[in-house]
Amino acid sequence: MNLIIFGPPGAGKGTQSNFIAKKYSLYQLSTGEVLREQIKNKTDLGVQISPLINAGSFVPDEIVSDLIEKVIKDTKYNDRIIFDGYPRSLTQARNLDNLLKKYKQKIDVVLKLSVTLETIKKRISERRTLEKRPDDNEEIAIKRYKTYEKSTEPVIDYYKKLNLLKVIDGERPIDQINKEISDIINLI
Ligand code: AMP
Repeated sequence: MNLIIFGPPGAGKGTQSNFIAKKYSLYQLSTGEVLREQIKNKTDLGVQISPLINAGSFVPDEIVSDLIEKVIKDTKYNDRIIFDGYPRSLTQARNLDNLLKKYKQKIDVVLKLSVTLETIKKRISERRTLEKRPDDNEEIAIKRYKTYEKSTEPVIDYYKKLNLLKVIDGERPIDQINKEISDIINLI
């Protein structure tokens, strides 16, 4: 089973992905994390993409596609991938379809954690009090939320038309969300 998980910053996507990865022995492929690793290890690719990531711009499609293909074709991860952070555009969604076809795989389900902007603001403000993180700033949180909504909307629509989309109410307690996700996966 391969799946995609979508959710705005603060939706609990990381928590839920960890949970699914452990419970179903899946491999969590976060493109942002893979790219940051390249920067940390100062590889040629890392040096090339570091200014883009630091500016909050997208890394070119071919670069991300090559990274994704390496994982898809690795038999260790065959049919066991959670895609997190990819696809981020229609071009990437179509590319992912082609890559999966090439390796005789497919996407089985697309999960979208749905959380309102009001909840995100509340969570960020609680976290700011507790953790005093400099990036937990309401203005930045709103900006990231809007960028997320705008960029993922066409991709979400694409999977809806393919009947693969499951929208999950991310406003509820973590264990209830866990349960709903498990119920969906158990039916696949
Ligand atoms: P994330 O950790 O998912 O927020 O990603 C961090 C950064 O990595 C993004 O701001 C982009 O610069 C880059 N990135 C991650 N995934 C992609 C992708 N699918 N396409 C292009 N750039 C990406």
